[in-house]
Amino acid sequence: MPLEIIPGPFDATGNWYRGALHVHTTESDGSIPPDRTVRQYHQGGWDFVALTDHNRVSAPSQVPPGFLAIRGCEYDIGQTELRQKFHIVGVGLEAGREPRPGQSPQETIDGIHDAGGFAWVAHPYWSGLTTSDLLAIDRYDALEVYNAVCELEIGRGNSEVHLDDLLIRGRRVGALAVDDSHWPVFDALRGWVVVRAHELSQRAIVDALLAGRYYASSGPAIYAVRVTETEVEVECSPCAAISLIAGPTVGGRLSAGRAGGAVRARRLEGRQGQQGVGEAEQLTGAVFALTGREQYGRVRVEDAQGRAAWTSLLIVRS
Ligand SMILES: [Zn+2]
Ligand SMILES: [Zn+2]
Repeated sequence: MPLEIIPGPFDATGNWYRGALHVHTTESDGSIPPDRTVRQYHQGGWDFVALTDHNRVSAPSQVPPGFLAIRGCEYDIGQTELRQKFHIVGVGLEAGREPRPGQSPQETIDGIHDAGGFAWVAHPYWSGLTTSDLLAIDRYDALEVYNAVCELEIGRGNSEVHLDDLLIRGRRVGALAVDDSHWPVFDALRGWVVVRAHELSQRAIVDALLAGRYYASSGPAIYAVRVTETEVEVECSPCAAISLIAGPTVGGRLSAGRAGGAVRARRLEGRQGQQGVGEAEQLTGAVFALTGREQYGRVRVEDAQGRAAWTSLLIVRS
């Protein structure tokens, strides 16, 4: 089966910008006002924040120089198989063109795109979304694979399996990490995207998101991913494990320490020389050999504290 290599952020040009895509303020059910929310992310070292209050677009009165606030909204709409609402988030909405609340999930996704925005399905695990729910709607750009408040409050923050259920069916959906912050400190600065864009403007960031030029993280950094017909090579900050997630029963995982041996993966030699297999040592990269049976491929990097970084789709075989 021919291999398609999906362009991503690592082979693109431009600067890297870190941002929070899903944040609430006192304009809906958050606990701090928009201006203080912006200050929190600016002081935390973030480059941008999208305010995504429920069913309304809110904005700060001022933004520090060199920082960007993006217009966004979280729409709570429709009904899922388990009788919950879909939460659809859009960012980069042009003023006056944003979808009105109360439309169907699909109308909302399409309306976000019509307003120039980037649309995704929030916290599938927290919402109890089923594969049927996720297949009943289309054209969304991404899923949240990590949502900090959902993890911290009820342990349902990781929706990676939901993403894999879509990827294995041929859907092309990206992977996001977000705070969905409702409180200062508690759930803030914990899940983010790193976007490769030419400048720090709403249009440039949203265009980069729409083009898939980003990766997601709750801790580790991914510096480079190189994909060829036969290998996927990953370079990252010191970590405990690197996985190529590629479909049922195939893929690879390399771990630091004694259990590090993997059939189809080898350590990427660190800049300081070969990485060992001692218990205290860490990985800084991996090379995965492709078997030809991977239906799709994405990469996850995990650190020793249980934090992770996720690429979106890297390869598809059709
Ligand atoms: Zn939500
Ligand atoms: Zn939310």
